[in-house]
Amino acid sequence: MTQLFGGIEAGGTKFVCMVGIGPLEVVAELQFPTTQPDETIQRAIEFFKPYTRGGELAAVGIASFGPVDLNPASPTYGYTTTTPKSGWSQVNLRGRIQQALNLPVAFDTDVNAAALGEHHWIPENRSLDPFLYMTVGTGIGLGILANGQVLHGLIHSEAGHLAIPHDLQKDPFPGICPYHGDCLEGLASGPAMAKRWGQLAETLPDNHPAWELEVEYISLALVNLIYTCSPQRIVLGGGVAEHPGLHEAVSRKVQQHLNGYIRSPVILECINDYIVPPSLKKRSGVLGAIAMAIDMAISETPKRLSR
Ligand code: ZN
Repeated sequence: MTQLFGGIEAGGTKFVCMVGIGPLEVVAELQFPTTQPDETIQRAIEFFKPYTRGGELAAVGIASFGPVDLNPASPTYGYTTTTPKSGWSQVNLRGRIQQALNLPVAFDTDVNAAALGEHHWIPENRSLDPFLYMTVGTGIGLGILANGQVLHGLIHSEAGHLAIPHDLQKDPFPGICPYHGDCLEGLASGPAMAKRWGQLAETLPDNHPAWELEVEYISLALVNLIYTCSPQRIVLGGGVAEHPGLHEAVSRKVQQHLNGYIRSPVILECINDYIVPPSLKKRSGVLGAIAMAIDMAISETPKRLSR
């Protein structure tokens, strides 16, 4: 019997569920909108149920929108925490899926999973460490891999809320973050762009001043992350980052801001190989969740054998 693994990318707008072994061996995949927790979690459970009957499914990984409780010792481990999404605060996402399927379930943030997905499944990324994934879309998030592991800590990286220089002469917009106003996410997320310019980011033409400002904010954040984490590669994903030419413009701006200080050939000579789009495209998160499930199944095997 071939062992299969489950992945869930639990996003604020949609859930993506997958059963498979990896990017080239996907057995089943389903997307549905994120509605109320009971209905949405039940749909995920029903998707996986048929693969549990014969014991094919070995483990499930969940890549969740945040913030979430990632501390395995906490009574609310695997819960969503302070999300402003209606009905989704303090939901026992991991526990409900674990109980219904009776399988080992790994749990992390969507952006940590996306970092893991790009690192685990793309051969040229596997030797690169530290390795970062930043998403710029509805929100801004960062996943950090260091020493081959996703970096956790007090909670998880919240680099979307980095404080970055904000020139009020050039950009008087106060920002939209309910906690900080003009943090990175408050200034540069998709909803911030929509509020500042009065139209959706994807409808702003290429020559609109919005893009120069966006490139400036993203590049300032990346420069701070390069100084802090010294990553060997940065994947820049998310809906806003898909805008044509944005990667190249951000890369050039990062080079300008670093101003020759970081003496690394990849930054000085081939920065387009350093700040890259996601190779797995929109599947980085769900395939990262599959990678989490594989790791979970491997770590559970010795425990099962010793019982
Ligand atoms: Zn903030």
